[in-house]
Order: sequence, then C-alpha cells, then structure tokens
Amino acid sequence: MGLPFIDLAAQQARIRQDVDQRIAAVLSHGAYILGPEVKELEVALAERSGATHVISCSSGTDALVLALLGLGLRPGQGVIVPSFTFAASAEAMAVLGSVPVFAEIERSTYNLDPDGLPSALAAAHAQNIEVVGIMCVGLFGQPADITRISAFADKHGLWVLDDAAQSFGSTWKGRQAGTLGRVTATSFFPAKPLGCYGDGGAVLTNDDSIAKIAVSCRVHGQGRDKYENERIGMTARLDTIQAAILLSKLSIFDDELAARQQVADQYETLLGGKVTTPLLAADATSSWAQYVIQLPDGADRQAIQDRMGSKNIPTAVYYPRPMHTQPPYLHYPVAQDGLSVTERLASSVLALPMHPYLTPEQQEQVADALMSSL
Ligand SMILES: *Cc1c(COP(=O)(O)O)cnc(C)c1O
Repeated sequence: MGLPFIDLAAQQARIRQDVDQRIAAVLSHGAYILGPEVKELEVALAERSGATHVISCSSGTDALVLALLGLGLRPGQGVIVPSFTFAASAEAMAVLGSVPVFAEIERSTYNLDPDGLPSALAAAHAQNIEVVGIMCVGLFGQPADITRISAFADKHGLWVLDDAAQSFGSTWKGRQAGTLGRVTATSFFPAKPLGCYGDGGAVLTNDDSIAKIAVSCRVHGQGRDKYENERIGMTARLDTIQAAILLSKLSIFDDELAARQQVADQYETLLGGKVTTPLLAADATSSWAQYVIQLPDGADRQAIQDRMGSKNIPTAVYYPRPMHTQPPYLHYPVAQDGLSVTERLASSVLALPMHPYLTPEQQEQVADALMSSL
C-alpha cells in the first residue's frame, strides 16, 4: 500500500475514543442544531485566536459569503483577490453579484503580492468598477503579507478579508490568523489543518457589526427571534456533531501544527537546493496545509507525477488553472501588468504528501521518488 497524501486515519486512531464520547453526548442531549458544543467551540476558537467574535458556519465558502455580507459588499463593487487560489475565494464575491479583480502573487510565498495591488486597482478603475476591499488568502498555510497589504488598503480606504481556509493556526508577527484582517473566514473541510468529518467553517472578527450580520445571516437574516427577518440571509449553521468533533481535534491541534513544521523542516533538509522549496516569510509561521514545491522550468509535471505514482507516492497540483482563466470568470478584470507569476506557477507547482503523521522514513521515500522522477 502506498503512503497517504493526507492521513486522516492516523489522526482518527489517536482521538477516536474522545470523538466517540463527544458524539454520544450529542446523541443524548439531542440539540443537533446550534447545540451547546457549537457555543463551546466558538468560545474555544475565540480564545485561541484572540478574535472577539467567532461565528461557526456550514463551510469555508459560506464563511466567506457571511463575511462579505457582514462587510456590506454590494453588487457591482469590486474586491481584489489572487487568481492563484481555490475557486471559493473568488466565487464568494461573484455569487453576490460583486466583481473579483484578479491580482498577482509572489513567486516565493504563493501569496498576494503587495507590489501588484496598484495594477489590480488600476484595472478595476479602467472599467469604472469601485473597489471596496481586498481578499487575501493564506495559501498552503502561510498568511499573506498583511502588514503591507493593510497599509495599501488603509491608504485607499479598503477593508481586508483574510481567507484563512488553509492558514488557520498560522501567525503573522506573532498575531494569530483570525485577527489579521478586519474579518477572517476559515474552513473545517476534512483535509484542512483543522478539519471536521464533513463540511464546516467559521467567521472571526473583532468588529461587532460584522459579527451581528454574520450571526443573523447564518439563520435566514433573523432578528430577535426566528420569525423576524431583518435581512436576506441563508442557512449556514455548523452541525452540533461537527462542533463536537472539532472540540476533540482542537485539543491536539497545536501538537499537530508542531509536527507539520517538523515535516516541513525535514522536507527542506531533503530537497532544499535540489528543487524550489516553499519559503516562509520572516514574519510568518505556517499551518502547512500543503507542502508545495516548484519544478524546474520545462519539467513535464504529468510525467513526474506518473513516475512517482508508480512508486506509490501520491502527489497533487494546487492549482492547475488560475481563476482568471476559468470560463465563468473570464470577463472579470485582471491586473494591468498581467499575471505571469500566477500562470508560471500554475504549470510548475507540485504538492507532496503533507500531514502531521508523516514519518522521516516516508519523507525519504517521497524525496527519493521525486529525485529519481525528475
Ligand atoms: C477550502 C478553501 C475554501 C472553501 O472552504 P470549503 O469549506 O470547502 O467551502 C476557501 N478558500 C480556500 C483558499 C480554500 O482552500
């Protein structure tokens, strides 16, 4: 049997008894929707991150939509977003009738390039689109350069929404993801660093008014009670059972983050100088959602993946097609200087197995298979 790309079974074996007990407790009290575990989780995540408000919800995508509703984003308004990201980042604004404005990333960190922001803003203005905010993404676990992105945002009167679906657990200058932008969205999809056993997500913010709107929109825009509808919302609650599972996973999260850092360090030892390994910014720690290398120019990625696959080493590509090249997004503005770094990375990145339970021996197998497949 080959080694797994992400090993959720090893994690489950570690916490199975606790998870079983917590699920049994939910079955006993029967409050399946917004039960006590949901509140307990929100309090625990607030304590962990330092965010005043944590609003759990049904997915990372819904967390992004709730955050955008909380920010008061209106149809036709533009939001700067990287093109090199998971579809949900740009989709969340597009589904609200707003306009993703695609910006360039840094080659070294894969994250929004602060130097590329003026070119994205100019592209929107050239089409008479009013830009109101920036969505940065902590891709592969590392937060974007929030210091410089916030400075640009402040100068232009924009808000910053941090898509931390992959980067919850990371820090920037010692501050936890969840407090870096005006509002943060994260995901508890099973394969994320902190995942449940289904779909889930959360909105984190210190802003009372964003929190109030997110709480309301999570349940059909409810007001003081269920049958008073103050605004148009959605149904976007986190299941109590998923909150119970997350409480169990949260108890080992810091330990797993440390293990992921060790795995990343070991990869750097094995591969540094041979392929382009991921770079952490000096101000960042990463939750290492993925370990993504860059293949040499001209390398045949598919052939390398096939050769590694034949040695039972799974690999993946995040993301082969940038958002601005996907049919439903073709008409949205793209930074005036173009997105050459984005396009180059889309064809050269390769994700290696990454999870907290990867052993040094398994990593050697991965490295050997990679080096002999290049
Ligand atoms: C996974 C992910 C999302 C969406 O989360 P879901 O829980 O799958 O809806 C959003 N943005 C990024 C960057 C992601 O990786």
